[in-house]
Amino acid sequence: AGSGKFFVGGNWKCNGTKESISKLVTDLNSAKLEPDVDVVVAPPFVYIDQVKNSLTDRIELSAQNSWVGKGGAFTGEISVEQLKDIGCKWVILGHSERRHVIGEDDQFIGKKAAYALSQNLKVIACIGEKLEEREAGKTFDVCFQQLKAFADNVPSWDDIVVAYEPVWAIGTGKVATPQQAQEVHVAVRDWLKKNVSEAVASKTRIIYGGSVNGGNCAELAKQEDIDGFLVGGASLKGPEFAVIVNSVT
Ligand code: PEP
Repeated sequence: AGSGKFFVGGNWKCNGTKESISKLVTDLNSAKLEPDVDVVVAPPFVYIDQVKNSLTDRIELSAQNSWVGKGGAFTGEISVEQLKDIGCKWVILGHSERRHVIGEDDQFIGKKAAYALSQNLKVIACIGEKLEEREAGKTFDVCFQQLKAFADNVPSWDDIVVAYEPVWAIGTGKVATPQQAQEVHVAVRDWLKKNVSEAVASKTRIIYGGSVNGGNCAELAKQEDIDGFLVGGASLKGPEFAVIVNSVT
């Protein structure tokens, strides 16, 4: 882990029922969490209010997506204003499932980030390469292009956490090695230094996501430029999520 405050996010994706989420909240409420870690969970939209009303204030709430501008006639969308209204502090933007399953592009994601920040919703900005891109030696190109779309749109990096999530590692059980992750995290920091500023590069937290679990988090957390995790599958189990939160070294 680096010098910034460790950050662990749980992305529940499109999972859960009122009942299973109530159990997860109970487990999180009773978990012992290291005090010096920012902990955030992202329930599905329809359960955010339930979680907000039952989860300890120790853990902040995130949405998994938000609309690109002010709310209005956008059927099926959820606005930043509404997320703020129900107590969300964060939104995950540019998740690989939004990019590659739903088809959101870099510019659209960059604009969403700018709008969320303009309304004081903090952003977990996801980037990451697909397997064929890694195999073609394009990992850095892809990550930098996705970063640039954020950089071109946002006025400030104060409220952004960057999540490096190689697509081949998400939900596959195939975690990046600590060296593979560290290599990209350093490159991302270096890109921020050259293209944004030295101050932003040193203070922006860069977290890793992709099949992080209770067994592999400690080795990853030892890497100098891994400032936390974004966790999918393992965030649905309260005790295991707590292990990941507490992996900071
Ligand atoms: C994610 O969706 O952000 C993620 C990292 O998923 P998983 O931990 O299940 O690979």
